[in-house]
Amino acid sequence: MSPSRRSVALLGATGSIGVQTLDVLRHESERFELTAISGGEQLSELAAIVREFNVKSVAVKSAEHRATLGELISREVSIVVGEEGLAQLSASADVVVNAVLGFAGLPVTLGALGAGKRLALANKESLVAAAPLVANVRHQPGAQLVPIDSEHCAIHQCLASSPALPGYPDVRRLLLTASGGPFRGWSAEQLRGATKADALRHPTWSMGDKITVDSSTLMNKGLEVLEATALFGIDAARVDVVVHPQSIVHSMVEYVDGSVLAQLSRPDMRLPIAYSLGLPQRLTHHWGDLDFTQTMELNFEPPDREAFPALGLAYEAARLGGAAPAWLSAANEVAVEAFLADAIAWCDIVALVAATMDHYVADPLDSLASLHENDEAARRWARASLEN
Ligand code: NAD
Ligand code: MG
Repeated sequence: MSPSRRSVALLGATGSIGVQTLDVLRHESERFELTAISGGEQLSELAAIVREFNVKSVAVKSAEHRATLGELISREVSIVVGEEGLAQLSASADVVVNAVLGFAGLPVTLGALGAGKRLALANKESLVAAAPLVANVRHQPGAQLVPIDSEHCAIHQCLASSPALPGYPDVRRLLLTASGGPFRGWSAEQLRGATKADALRHPTWSMGDKITVDSSTLMNKGLEVLEATALFGIDAARVDVVVHPQSIVHSMVEYVDGSVLAQLSRPDMRLPIAYSLGLPQRLTHHWGDLDFTQTMELNFEPPDREAFPALGLAYEAARLGGAAPAWLSAANEVAVEAFLADAIAWCDIVALVAATMDHYVADPLDSLASLHENDEAARRWARASLEN
């Protein structure tokens, strides 16, 4: 590798964010070298990425996957397995992109920061669930957390003009924008009839199925409120959600003098991905060009909190703190999986999360072992509610 090139580990390389990251890397081969990847079940896709980028290390879920992948790749590649494998690769590169789905991304978040690497974070579930543990490893020398989630990437850019004092005292509030999802404006009766096909039809973004369903319930925005509090050390009472159907303003920061800074671009995740890789440099691309010489409408409206109770649940989890956000996210993973498997209706998703939260017992979340216990307990209660 040329000394000026930065090594990149892309975990979750076969998903929506993974594939878009590969696209950025294809255009940036002079700056970055992809050295390590992982994927869930998509072994032939992993083999194709190894061949195209000449990747040195791959993490897979099981020894069985290792054997199959080994047969698909006819060259010398190190194949590591399971959570340990993921953690190992997360400590192996200058920049670690966490594009894994759900709580399974936890070893990447903790591994990269613990090893003093730049973590380019798409996987919000790990940060939401493990916020107190992430706070501990974030201070590791060299560790840097740069959000890929478009709203948080926008806020990261807006806050660059602010003195980075704890809690950002000159910030009045963060305004997270939300497209509103496919069900914006639907009545309670219409929502009762919402189908999987309806939920998977996002108006502005093309993403993996889980986050697309989360966008339809607004649980995605709820998780993003929690993500913002963890990333920026700002209390949830200073984080507001604004529906902005065009997905052009990716979020805003309101200062104590009433001034509001926003970041705008066309909705294309390659922009925040490129930002997280290139920082402090901006990479030159035209994925996000807006044409201000043409008439453009930007609308803003409050979210319908009655129709979308997920937002309220997330604020309540933020108020409770400790392991409550981990419970919210774990219960939601179980509920969304069940919805995608046609086992429950759309309206049952958030109802199941609410029923699970009723069993939460306050826990300050002070160790990894306790996080795993809480995650398992929440999933157990969520599955029990599924059976009732
Ligand atoms: P996806 O389902 O398209 O891809 C997920 C990736 O993780 C795949 O490579 C899959 O093989 C891997 N994976 C899934 N389960 C795994 C497991 N148990 N162990 C190891 N690997 C596993 O998801 P996505 O839409 O790319 O989202 C990835 C993350 O990025 C999520 O946390 C999501 O909230 C976040 N995010 C996505 C977008 C987007 O535009 N897609 C935007 C913002 C944030
Ligand atoms: Mg987002």
